[in-house]
Amino acid sequence: MTATRTPGQPFVDDGRLVSTNPATGDEVGRFPVATAAEVEAAVSRAREAGAWWSGLGFAGRRARLHEFRAVLARRMPELAAVMRREGGKPEVDAIVEIAGAIDHVHWASNNARRVLRSRRVRPSPLQLEFSARLEYQPLGVIGVIGPWNYPVFTPLGSIAYALAAGNAVVYKPSEYTPAVGQWLVERFAEVVPEQPVLQIVYGRGETGAALCRAGVDKVAFTGSTATGKLVMAACAETLTPVLVECGGKDAMIVDADADLSAAADAALWGGVYNAGQTCIGIERVYVVESVADEFVGKLVSAAKGLKVGFADDSTVGPITMPSQVEVIRRHIADAVDSGATVALGGIEAVRPPYVDPTILVDVPESSSAVREETFGPVLVVNRVEDAEEALQRANAVSYGLGGAVFCGSPDRALDLARRMRSGMTAVNSALSFAGQPSVPFGGVGDSGFGRIHGDDGLREFTRPKSITSRRMRSLLPATTFRRDPAATAKRLTKIIRLVHGRG
Ligand code: NDP
Repeated sequence: MTATRTPGQPFVDDGRLVSTNPATGDEVGRFPVATAAEVEAAVSRAREAGAWWSGLGFAGRRARLHEFRAVLARRMPELAAVMRREGGKPEVDAIVEIAGAIDHVHWASNNARRVLRSRRVRPSPLQLEFSARLEYQPLGVIGVIGPWNYPVFTPLGSIAYALAAGNAVVYKPSEYTPAVGQWLVERFAEVVPEQPVLQIVYGRGETGAALCRAGVDKVAFTGSTATGKLVMAACAETLTPVLVECGGKDAMIVDADADLSAAADAALWGGVYNAGQTCIGIERVYVVESVADEFVGKLVSAAKGLKVGFADDSTVGPITMPSQVEVIRRHIADAVDSGATVALGGIEAVRPPYVDPTILVDVPESSSAVREETFGPVLVVNRVEDAEEALQRANAVSYGLGGAVFCGSPDRALDLARRMRSGMTAVNSALSFAGQPSVPFGGVGDSGFGRIHGDDGLREFTRPKSITSRRMRSLLPATTFRRDPAATAKRLTKIIRLVHGRG
């Protein structure tokens, strides 16, 4: 085994990216780092493969994606083991992640035809001599750049939808999770052996940057806001469109009439699942004063039952990216220094590569623990006078990805959910929208733009194509120089006044 500087920190050795386990430092695999020329070559192979794949039509692609889904389902334990080895997450978390990803592959392949097929649309009553048709055509080659925290669910959220829409994909996994990426791409090649419809390129940030410049038709990026801006800048050079799924600082609102046990359970799940390394993780809870103490009591007591480590019975694994531990430590220290109460955990909870669940109460809103993405098992719980104040505070950060509302009244919950500045909000649950393939997923503000999942997620990887065809002679030929100008102006004015001129 090659010694690593820091367990989990990948390094390059002799042109190969070496990935290691964050808990043990054990080497997981070696992967050839792709040069810019190799990335370009992959894109040019993908262009040909994409034409072939698109030519299979909706039914042909659906059949292959169904096979892929079945392979994933049959080999779940094997994939979960690779995820655990490389990212450190508990096996059950890996299984939950794969299950969600399979559901998305299934949905995307089953719904692509309905959403994207060529269809007649209603022509304007003013131009009934033309029929109108709309279809959503594949873009060609999609470059997918993925993060490490959900190395199956997140990239497949783009890849499955891009493939179902008829595109080829070149995928650049995070340097922290190349082995998981390789496993996925190899399984896909087993069900689609004819052409390199899904390829992988390994490397660090430079490989991702090379992919942005390699002539792809769109880049689907998931990662931090800072890197998202670099990706946009690189794509701007060639006017390559981008889908940018970035970080978050999601809030949960707990109203006075909420089921507090359910809210505490969901806050803990939303905040600590995957060791808090979740873009839609709950990082802030705004709880109405009258029920705050009871809520915190339930939250702390549930959190005490979690077991952190890399043992088979651990419920919370290590922090996958070693440098994130310092961010988490800084946020906890900042909160404590500015007067927060530590209800559980605290600075001593940070013991690399682990961080024990930490609950900080009454944290000043100006603190980094409230304003910046922590990406660790840390929950800020702040008291508010009522749900309106909770909403106001929830909406006061630059991010806007997901969020949650716990409230006894369904109407009030829906109203709060609608007014939350985010792309998705869960009511009386946490993170539940991610597991619903029929609803789109994406953020506002610093959380990015564009959508994966759902009908919008399929359309994201297509270009709308409009076709209008003449089907009869024009009764009022206004758009030809063969018209009679005076008569046309008179008749058209009369018709428009009749149709649109009334108040
Ligand atoms: P990063 O932004 O560090 O990296 C994301 C990907 O971009 C990686 O593959 C990375 O490669 C690559 N990359 C790095 N530099 C460049 C560059 N200059 N040009 C092109 N690509 C580049 O994010 P993390 O991997 O740390 O992921 C965590 C972040 O992702 C969190 O902020 C989280 O909230 C967010 N996220 C968002 C989701 C969403 O759907 N909105 C879902 C999941 C996570 P390498 O790793 O090799 O450096």
